[in-house]
Amino acid sequence: MVKPAIEKQDFPMLIGDEPVRTPKVRTINLPYDGTPVADVYDADAATVDRAIVVAQAGAEAMAALSQYERAELLQRMRSLLERDAEEFARLVTLETGKTIREARGEVARAQQTLAASADAARNLRGEVVPMEAAPTGKGRWAMTVREPLGVIAAITPFNFPLNLGLHKIGPALAAGNSVVHKPSENTPLSALRLARLAAEAGAPKGAYNVVTGPGEETGRQLVDDPRVAMITFTGSAEVGRQIRAAAGLRRTTLEMGSNSSVILEPDCDLDLLLPRCVAGGYALAGQVCISVQNIYVHESIADDFTQRFVARARALKIGHPLEESTDMASLISVAAAERVESWIKRACARGARLLTGGTRRGAIIEPAVLADVPADDDVCCKEVFGPLVVLHRYSRLDEAIDAVNTGEYGLQAGLCTRDLGRAFQAARKLHVGGVIVNDVPAFRVDLMPYGGTKMSGVGREGPHYSVEEMTELKLICWRG
Ligand code: NAP
Repeated sequence: MVKPAIEKQDFPMLIGDEPVRTPKVRTINLPYDGTPVADVYDADAATVDRAIVVAQAGAEAMAALSQYERAELLQRMRSLLERDAEEFARLVTLETGKTIREARGEVARAQQTLAASADAARNLRGEVVPMEAAPTGKGRWAMTVREPLGVIAAITPFNFPLNLGLHKIGPALAAGNSVVHKPSENTPLSALRLARLAAEAGAPKGAYNVVTGPGEETGRQLVDDPRVAMITFTGSAEVGRQIRAAAGLRRTTLEMGSNSSVILEPDCDLDLLLPRCVAGGYALAGQVCISVQNIYVHESIADDFTQRFVARARALKIGHPLEESTDMASLISVAAAERVESWIKRACARGARLLTGGTRRGAIIEPAVLADVPADDDVCCKEVFGPLVVLHRYSRLDEAIDAVNTGEYGLQAGLCTRDLGRAFQAARKLHVGGVIVNDVPAFRVDLMPYGGTKMSGVGREGPHYSVEEMTELKLICWRG
């Protein structure tokens, strides 16, 4: 294959409507082979401060827009994203190393997130409260209104840099807030480009600002600033815990990791589910918070499933992410791949069998399948965030449900059976934020409520649900 041509670009921050560069230049490289793709600038303390000041004015301007005007703004952003979809997809590939087909999927979903945010802006409403139903409420009448919070800090991870950013920016603007966004230092390009798109769509000055830099500095400064009314975070549980501790009484939404599972009952439709399990396990090289990490297969179908699953994992084409035929490219960094490799080796030293893959070349790990893993091993219980799937056998459904419920995460789980009664009972027993019946946990549409239990998160995303988190409920009560 001829190596695709990549021209290095310059990406200043955008604060208000001004491009900002600092002396601290950092080069973003394509994770697959280290090709330099862009220069970005780390924000210094004065730049973060300036972003918050500008965002305060932006919050006033956003709050002054009617719901109709906010919805129209979000619709214009959606249309511009559709117009520039291929440019955004290429940027997402260059910063994350995900395949161009996966990046196009992310851009298409980002448009859905904007459309759902526009709907959320139109539908934001309070309610009339039946005050006279209380013994002392006679002659009183009350209603609730939802008011914006002000400046919202959005802190996002590397794996879906565009769509996960929009899950915060879309609802924040819909609710009449402004945003200071700190994307992952590895993947700031699509957010920086999005800020230009928002300005072109007519967003008020200061409504959407992007600051780039390391989480420990830029992110921490944003979190610690009392002018920031809310922190909406997506990333690892470790960082989420620190943010929650620093936020004090301010509002936080935390969308964090998982070790997601799918349960395959003997009557499930394997022909349908095999390709879904492979896609769920290896899409984005397994770097998805709801990636299929643990598959619990009923013992009566385990041999058949294992043989077919391993064959499909082996058939995935690994290659350059800009190549159309590539199924899986690299992880975000060599260090991330080394970590996954070491976890696989440690599991094997404890008796696990590596059925295929697991070999590392730079930032690439061949799609790996493990079996016979001790239940308390890291590859089962911790978040692998790499192209590794662990197969387990079970004999009774309750055993599998208990195994899924054990542990510290609870984002989504898949449950596959044609028996609706059994599915419903099991769905009620699973301690997770979402149960996906007859599919893998990796399934998500952007308008649905999404979030986790336990260490997987606090609060729900999905624009309709996020605007509730991003507004203050105020009661107005009349006498007489
Ligand atoms: P991460 O290391 O936790 O980083 C997430 C963001 O937090 C980055 O922007 C990071 O900055 C910033 N950050 C780091 N330390 C900070 C601090 N002390 N104060 C403020 N901000 C700080 O996560 P990641 O490796 O990018 O992403 C992978 C994780 O995200 C996985 O655990 C995955 O499950 C989770 N995730 C969850 C969801 C969900 O919806 N539940 C979706 C996608 C991903 P820098 O990177 O710039 O240092």
